[in-house]
Amino acid sequence: LDFAWSEEQQALRRSVIQFAQHELASDVIAEDHRGEFSWEGWRQCARFGIQGMPVPEEYGGGGADILTTVCAVEALGYACRNAGLIDSLNSHACGCEIPLTAFGTDAQKRELLPRLAAGEFISALAADGPRSGFGSSNSGVRAERKGGGWVLNGSCAWVSNAPLAHVVVVLAAGGQSEAAPGTTAFLVRKSTKGFTTGAPVSTTGLRTSLIAEVKLEGCELPAESVLGEAGGGTAVLEAALDGQRLCALAGQIGVMQRQLEVSARYATERRQFGQPIGKFPAIASKVAEMDIRLETSRLVLYRAAWLKKQGKRSDREAAIAAAYVGEAAIETARDALQIHGGYGYMTEYQIERELRDAVAGRLYSGSGEPDKRTIARARGL
Ligand SMILES: Cc1cc2nc3c(=O)[nH]c(=O)nc-3n(C[C@H](O)[C@H](O)[C@H](O)COP(=O)(O)OP(=O)(O)OC[C@H]3O[C@@H](n4cnc5c(N)ncnc54)[C@H](O)[C@@H]3O)c2cc1C
Repeated sequence: LDFAWSEEQQALRRSVIQFAQHELASDVIAEDHRGEFSWEGWRQCARFGIQGMPVPEEYGGGGADILTTVCAVEALGYACRNAGLIDSLNSHACGCEIPLTAFGTDAQKRELLPRLAAGEFISALAADGPRSGFGSSNSGVRAERKGGGWVLNGSCAWVSNAPLAHVVVVLAAGGQSEAAPGTTAFLVRKSTKGFTTGAPVSTTGLRTSLIAEVKLEGCELPAESVLGEAGGGTAVLEAALDGQRLCALAGQIGVMQRQLEVSARYATERRQFGQPIGKFPAIASKVAEMDIRLETSRLVLYRAAWLKKQGKRSDREAAIAAAYVGEAAIETARDALQIHGGYGYMTEYQIERELRDAVAGRLYSGSGEPDKRTIARARGL
């Protein structure tokens, strides 16, 4: 077992941390309060090459594999306190760039990937219920053939980046055959007649990532809009969700490392009853548990990402990572808040926001019970 990062990956990690600490240091407290997307952060990330990272070099990207992308996103989670921005970047890279790279035609890739990689275009994935592996028949959009093309009708309730997106990967029910409709993925441009997005919804956490409804009303699309094969939407969705899950967890692990460091430092500096609070066994134990969760989270995530990189089956390992890390991130944020006492509860310390952000991870990148079903199924149940 060798989970050591290569020299190049370590250098990438260092440069992402340095970049994020210097260039992504906006006032996240105010942005979170206003529910505001950081355009400046998005542009800075594009200049650094974050959006282009998983895109092949021939289409203007960095050509990073999934393990290297996980390494970079973890560094971003550690050094950038704007978790909503990281969620937007993940939705863009995993919701569109990765499935487009895997399933797109050369014409689709040439048209979109260079602009997506440069951050000139923002993208999203509209799949609604299916995102946690609940089953792709949940899509709220229906596709029907019309002439040589397609017409889409329906909506997806919560789509990250929707209010900003130039292009959305829409997963629609239908397209395979009358008897077994299946699902089909489409590339839908914002300018398409009948395509609209709602106003951003107000959320508990990740408030700097804009989420809105996507509506398709009599949306006519040419045959070339299909991403992958008609009826092949599930494979496209799985490619998107696998990447999204690993990257979302990587970002959370970066946050967990920072919270551990900040909390351990606070526990040595803050004094009560004549000694640093870290001398109280209850506080020291919390710090130790934060460390155990961090190391365990890394092992399960890196193993799932490594399997994926080798092209091996990784659904059980990814479900284990999602079920474990999602919960661990919430517990670690709660411990960080508790160690900081009343200060932890104040917006100024930015821990209460990170607790709110962490809760979203249990919803969009795997929600406990369905993950456990996947794990149990792999054991023959
Ligand atoms: C911050 C955020 C961003 C999002 N971004 C996007 C996006 O970009 N694109 C998109 O398409 N969607 C997006 N979503 C929607 C997301 O995909 C769904 O919230 C997710 O799939 C869960 O579906 P649901 O909310 O309908 O919950 P439900 O499926 O209704 O689940 C409700 C509860 O029941 C449990 N449950 C469900 N099924 C089972 C089962 N079989 N066994 C046991 N328990 C079960 C769940 O664990 C959960 O606790 C986003 C959601 C959030 C919160």
